[in-house]
Amino acid sequence: MTDIVSHRLDLDPDNWDELRAEGHRMLDDMIDHLAKVRERPVWQPIPDSVRARFHTPIPHEAEALHEVYAEFTRSIAPYATGNIHPGFMGWVHGGGNAAGMLAELLAAGLNANLGGRDHMPIVVERQILAWMRQLFDFPQGASGLFVTGTSMANFMALLVARTHALGEGVRRRGIAASEKTLCAYTSKAAHGCIAKAMDMAGFGTDALRQIGVDRLHRIDIEALQERINADRQAGLAPFLVVGTAGSVDIGAIDDLTALAELCEREHLTFHVDGAYGALAMMSPELAPRLAGIQRADSIALDFHKWAQVPYDAGFVLVRDGERHLRTFDAPAAYLRRDTRGLAGGSPWPCDFGPDLSRGFRALKTWFTLKTYGTDRLGAVMAHTCAVARHLERRVRSESALELVAPAQLNIVCFRHRGDDALNADIVATLQETGVAAPSATVIDGRVVIRAAIFNHRTNESDADSLINAVIVAGNSSAAGNHGGGKTL
Ligand SMILES: *Cc1c(COP(=O)(O)O)cnc(C)c1O
Repeated sequence: MTDIVSHRLDLDPDNWDELRAEGHRMLDDMIDHLAKVRERPVWQPIPDSVRARFHTPIPHEAEALHEVYAEFTRSIAPYATGNIHPGFMGWVHGGGNAAGMLAELLAAGLNANLGGRDHMPIVVERQILAWMRQLFDFPQGASGLFVTGTSMANFMALLVARTHALGEGVRRRGIAASEKTLCAYTSKAAHGCIAKAMDMAGFGTDALRQIGVDRLHRIDIEALQERINADRQAGLAPFLVVGTAGSVDIGAIDDLTALAELCEREHLTFHVDGAYGALAMMSPELAPRLAGIQRADSIALDFHKWAQVPYDAGFVLVRDGERHLRTFDAPAAYLRRDTRGLAGGSPWPCDFGPDLSRGFRALKTWFTLKTYGTDRLGAVMAHTCAVARHLERRVRSESALELVAPAQLNIVCFRHRGDDALNADIVATLQETGVAAPSATVIDGRVVIRAAIFNHRTNESDADSLINAVIVAGNSSAAGNHGGGKTL
């Protein structure tokens, strides 16, 4: 086969039919890769020889596409995270889906830049925004934007709240020029990206109050109220409460109605980190658990988790679109708008966030929502919860195991009755053998095994395999094959 890459100065192939053949092969291989996922280990350690192949100098010379692809097949594909595998239960990761995968190919073909201008890909993104308004019962004026993930979405929502609290002048003068010392509130079970957002926004993490939680890891509303009172008395200016809909540790959902009421009473912005839980609005069985989310000022969520859209597809939804716009818009001559032609369609997505160039994340999301429908996606979420309950029953029935946190949604935390080192060992052993990939976390000072069921492919028999593998690994470690007593 002749090289697809020649020495011409555009980058198109000399022979489109050869490119077509290569493309079809890649597509066939990747479809097989998905169809046969169960035949492979969840994850496998990267051999040193494979790592070494990725320490080469920058490639000056062309290489044939089929050779580059062969390297992908040999060195990259077998050593991915494993979250497409039903045995992956380690972290809050979605499993992806075939329709979304194909949409990524189409999106890359169009190579659209969704920063702005008047073209159909932006209309698709606005369609998803309209669907999110509908799902969360947000008003017509609500705005929204695709972003990398909830870490970015939370950061942006925090900036919107800041601008609202201090006025638009803060964008020129900075927060240091303000007489007010702002502070925000979330729970101890909140995701670390909230503190990071406080840091990045210039408030510092000390300005984030991490309020205690109840037995089910929901924010203690009374303690929150007391802390707000105390801060006001100390002359500080509370401005934001971040509730969690699905905590990463055990899937806790704060009492969002109580938080909405408190925020109304105290005139605070109410933001919900719904990274994984918010889209459970698609499930009639789960949606009642999220009561109160409709009253949030903003919601951050990830399509790439429970809704199974391929990475990455985060989203921020803001009730007051004007407030959102005033936080990020920045006129520039080279971004001049018009009422007609390609420069029409203002305001543009770049007016609602920090990014100017933006990819077409909306397409894989649109394909996923349309191809499966929200009823089916909701049913998938409910099913992962059923698998978690099955896992919980299995834990309860094994004398060697102890349930640490009951499944509130789709995450189960349990431990082997051995010590912390044994539990950490079991997790590492399972990951290395490729049977299942739970993760280790610390709850109430003890190392526990966490099984987070997010993948639509994971079923009861995968939960059984996990339990069996934990018991086997626990017995063999207890019998003296202890991997070295490392803790976390
Ligand atoms: C995953 C997650 C985040 C971070 O979202 P990214 O998409 O990884 O940036 C934040 N909060 C919660 C509750 C999460 O589950």
